[in-house]
Amino acid sequence: MRFAYVNSNLVESEPGLQGLCPGCGQPVIARCGTERISHWAHRQAKRCDSWWEPETEWHRTWKSNYPLAWQEKFLPDPNTGEKHMADIYASDGLIIEFQHSHIKPEERVARERFYRTMVWVVDGTRLERDYPRFLKGKSAFKKKSKPRVFISEFPDECFPSAWLKSSVPVIFDFKGIQFGEQPENELDNLYCLFPNKDILDSLVVELPRRAFINMTNAGEWLSRIGRFMDELAEEEEKHKKQVAEQQRRQANLIFQSMITHERRRRF
Ligand SMILES: [Zn+2]
Repeated sequence: MRFAYVNSNLVESEPGLQGLCPGCGQPVIARCGTERISHWAHRQAKRCDSWWEPETEWHRTWKSNYPLAWQEKFLPDPNTGEKHMADIYASDGLIIEFQHSHIKPEERVARERFYRTMVWVVDGTRLERDYPRFLKGKSAFKKKSKPRVFISEFPDECFPSAWLKSSVPVIFDFKGIQFGEQPENELDNLYCLFPNKDILDSLVVELPRRAFINMTNAGEWLSRIGRFMDELAEEEEKHKKQVAEQQRRQANLIFQSMITHERRRRF
């Protein structure tokens, strides 16, 4: 946890400080060692959020892109009575969860059910093979009519399997912790995998990191994604109609030539 209450103010951990957890109100102590990023830890081993994972520099860097008031929001779970800490709770109701460690499928499903209007931002550098695999898969992406929009015919050959069945968009960040702005760097692009029931032919959108950060900071993610999906559906519909029309014309031509042929044969 990055913040805890000290004298009724939410503050970051500092050596020697004691505070209260904003989720459960239990005492927490500042842990400011050298091995892990400075954080607040519950005094008792039991944590109030069962979905907790140790924070890394990568988490912190991502969270720092957003207003403090949006970070680490505790939301009550009416089913279990537990509270869960959303990494970012944006002004449009979007929840952003930054995931570095491996996640069990049942926990992924539970979190998606609980947060609903969410996106995952996944650290694509967790396993060494993840990025080379992605690059190989990416070279086979098929372009759609819009720029930076692709179809991945076999996303299972491209993205880590834990995320393929996600019911919400999953954004892969292959940059990891490499500081410094390198605008031309390919790693500055994020790749958003859209949910797909049958997994094959999944929609993938390339998204410059800055664009994602700006869009979510402006509270525009949910509305922009909604519009984008509507446009794609419209396009798909138009394409289907064109194909049907083409088939109709072709059938007509074949029919005409058959009639002509038949007439020639008779006379
Ligand atoms: Zn707590």
